[in-house]
Amino acid sequence: MSQTILYKKVSRESKPENTIVRVGSVEFGGLHPVLIAGPCTVESENQLMAIATGVKKSGAHMLRGGAFKPRSSPYAFQGMGIEGLKLLKKASAATGLPVVTEIMSSEDLPAFLEHDIDMLQIGSRNMQNFSLLKALSKVNKPILLKRGMSATVEEFLLAAEYLMHQGNNQVVLCERGIRTFEQSTRNILDLNSLALIRQLSHLPIIADPSHAAGRYDLVTPLAIAALGAGANGLIIEVHHEPEEALCDGKQSLTLGSFEKLMLCVNR
Ligand code: PEP
Ligand code: MN
Repeated sequence: MSQTILYKKVSRESKPENTIVRVGSVEFGGLHPVLIAGPCTVESENQLMAIATGVKKSGAHMLRGGAFKPRSSPYAFQGMGIEGLKLLKKASAATGLPVVTEIMSSEDLPAFLEHDIDMLQIGSRNMQNFSLLKALSKVNKPILLKRGMSATVEEFLLAAEYLMHQGNNQVVLCERGIRTFEQSTRNILDLNSLALIRQLSHLPIIADPSHAAGRYDLVTPLAIAALGAGANGLIIEVHHEPEEALCDGKQSLTLGSFEKLMLCVNR
C-alpha cells in the first residue's frame, strides 16, 4: 500500500510544511526545541510548587505532571485525580508555564476541559485506545501522543491519523522508548524514529529520554542525542527529592541536574 493511502492527514505528502502546534505562547515545531519538565506524578501542593518554580527558573517552557496515572500495579499510587488537575493549574498560574497531563479515559474529559488543561497527553499504554483517540479527535485541545512501547512507527502514525481524522490538527508526537531484546535499560530510545518521522510527517515530534532510559544518569546524553536526531523538544521528569518520589524517582533529574541539562541544550 502506498504511503498516501496509509496516511491521509499526517503525511508530508498531504502537507509539505511543518505543522506548528501552539500551547499558549509555546510553539512545537518552530525554530526552537520545547522543554517540558516536571514530576512523573503530582504528589502534593508543596512538591509540585517546588518543582514547577525550580524548572521555570532553569528555563523550562511547560510543566508536566500526572494526575491520573496508568500504573502497572493496582497497588501502586494511582495519582491524585481531579485534585491533581487543580494543583497543576495552580502551579501553572504561579509560574506562567502551560501544563500537560495524561488523560486515560474519555470519561474524564469533562474534568480536563472544566479545569482548562492546556495539553492532553495520551500515554504509551493508551496509544491504541481507539475510543479515546476518537473522542480526542473532536476536542479543540492540543494533544501529546506518546508512542506505544511496542508500537511500530506505522502504528504510531496511524494513531495520530485517528486524532486528525475528525478534525484535531493540534497533535505533537512523542518518542518515549520501545521494548526490545535488550534488558539493560528500561526501554530503547528509538532515535531512528525521530529522524524518520521528521521525514514522513509534518507533525512535531519530541522525545522522552526519562522513560526511555529509566535511570537519571542517562537522561542528559539521550536528550542531546534526541535533539541531534531532529526532535522538536523534550519531556523530562524532574523531582526536588527523587529518592522520595512516589513514581519514577530513579529516572527523575534533580532540579540541579535539570538546570545543567538546560545549559547543555541551550549551548
Ligand atoms: C508518563 O509520562 O509519566 C508516562 C506514564 O509515560 P509513558 O506513557 O510514556 O509510559
Ligand atoms: Mn513517569
